[in-house]
Amino acid sequence: MLENSEAETRYQALVSKFRAREYRITPQRLAILRLLAESTDHPSAGRIYQELCDRFPTMSLATVYKTLAVLKEMGEVLELSLGEGENRYDGHNAVPHPHLICTRCGKILDSDVVLDQDVIATAAKASGFKILSHRLDLYGVCPECQKAESGE
Ligand code: ZN
Ligand code: MN
Repeated sequence: MLENSEAETRYQALVSKFRAREYRITPQRLAILRLLAESTDHPSAGRIYQELCDRFPTMSLATVYKTLAVLKEMGEVLELSLGEGENRYDGHNAVPHPHLICTRCGKILDSDVVLDQDVIATAAKASGFKILSHRLDLYGVCPECQKAESGE
C-alpha cells in the first residue's frame, strides 16, 4: 500500500481525468481506480476483479479490462506483459521505471533506482533509433521467499 496521502492524490487525479474525458463514473470504476492508486504490487486484471467482486457482485471482469483499457489509452497506467500469465498494472506511475520481479511468488515491486537517462540517449545516438519507451526488469527472489526457503 502506498502512503495514504500519495494514494489519495493519485486516486483524485485518476478520477478527474476520467471526468475530463466524460467517461461514465460508476461505483465499480471508482473502486478500480482506488485499488490501482493504492496498490504497489502491480495487480493483474484478475486480481483486481477478485478483490472487488465481493463488494460489487454485479461487476464483471470485462469492467476491469474496460477501465484498464481507458487508462491505457490516456497513458495513465503502465502495463507489464510478462510473456506468461496475466499482464500486470501500475496505476500510480505510468512513466517507465525499473521493476523487481520475484520468480518464486510472482510479486512485482518498484525499484528505487533511477535509470540513467544518459544510457538511453547514448543508445539512441549509437543506433539512430528514436527511443519511445524502455523497460528494465530485475528478476530474483524476494526477501520473504528467501526467508521461506531457508526455513526460518
Ligand atoms: Zn517472492
Ligand atoms: Mn511500477
